[in-house]
Amino acid sequence: MCSRINWARKLKIFSEDIKMEEKIYDIVIIGGGCAGLTAAIYARRAEKSVLVLEKNAFGGQIVYSPEVENFPGFIKISGLEFSDRLYSQAKGLGTEFEIDNAVKILTDGEYKTVITDYGKYKCRAVIIAAGLTHRRLGLENEERLAGHGISYCAVCDGAFFKGKDVAVCGGGNTAVTDALFLSDICRSVTVIHRRSEFRADPVLLEKLRKKNNIRYEFDSEITELAGEQGLQKITVLNKRTGESRDISVEALFVAIGFLPQNDICKNTAELDDGGFIKAGEDCVTSCSGIFAAGDCRTKALRQLTTAAADGAAAAYAACKFIG
Ligand code: NAP
Repeated sequence: MCSRINWARKLKIFSEDIKMEEKIYDIVIIGGGCAGLTAAIYARRAEKSVLVLEKNAFGGQIVYSPEVENFPGFIKISGLEFSDRLYSQAKGLGTEFEIDNAVKILTDGEYKTVITDYGKYKCRAVIIAAGLTHRRLGLENEERLAGHGISYCAVCDGAFFKGKDVAVCGGGNTAVTDALFLSDICRSVTVIHRRSEFRADPVLLEKLRKKNNIRYEFDSEITELAGEQGLQKITVLNKRTGESRDISVEALFVAIGFLPQNDICKNTAELDDGGFIKAGEDCVTSCSGIFAAGDCRTKALRQLTTAAADGAAAAYAACKFIG
């Protein structure tokens, strides 16, 4: 009986291998965020066969934004709705999708092969739109308390701390957006920023000024995270005065930027010093047939609009490459 099951398994793996070998996509897109889904829309409209590989949520980082107010044509839309619309548009045009993690691209021979955790996909061109991952504080206890009071997504986890005292670390658009969102549901929000001024957009700072349950710790850094089952307090050092003090909070939302997720490019496309894929506005990388779009590419401005623009440019370049 056991050996019959094993044989059946072997047969299934073998037949899946054959099935995967048979299908050759025109374009495999790694990453289903704004850049990747826009690339899919453009490539499908050019009648190319397209597979999008995404390891988390379709829509990318914007899924976690409560409100998007700077995408042309939308006065206000939630990140989730924006993502849903993008996904539906790409799907409606015939894009195929897989939830899978791409780990390697093989470039030998006529075709490229994208190796994932669960399979392999052959194609003529690859668009890498893998986006970014949250930067960590790098403090002791951070990993242990992640999911137990330490969060990298206010929209996902904020509701767990309704009526509680929480903190946000960072001074960019994400930190300020998170503080605004949390101030509506939490008792108090303490924002800890390492400099004396925020780098967030003035329109967001104006909204911040109207809130009366947000406190600020400028010129400060978090030096300790403490708690047994969950986060209980953070220690904050004011770098200007040299004073250190404990703040009791039940949650800390870390919003200190992002790092590129470009491990997949090792041995293929060239990276810059920051780990971003070297590619110009045309999204062409140093590796023939591999294109880079969105936040994972070297660029000055990382926004939804620039991700969408990259998606279109990368699809155009990939379609031209395929011929
Ligand atoms: P960001 O703009 O890179 O800001 C990161 C913040 O974290 C900065 O204030 C930085 O301090 C601080 N920081 C970096 N490393 C740190 C560390 N190790 N310890 C403590 N603080 C640290 O990142 P972001 O706010 O996540 O935004 C990313 C991109 O998304 C930006 O282009 C942003 O405009 C965009 N975005 C837009 C919106 C919107 O338009 N509504 C919303 C969210 C995000 P310094 O200021 O000292 O460098």
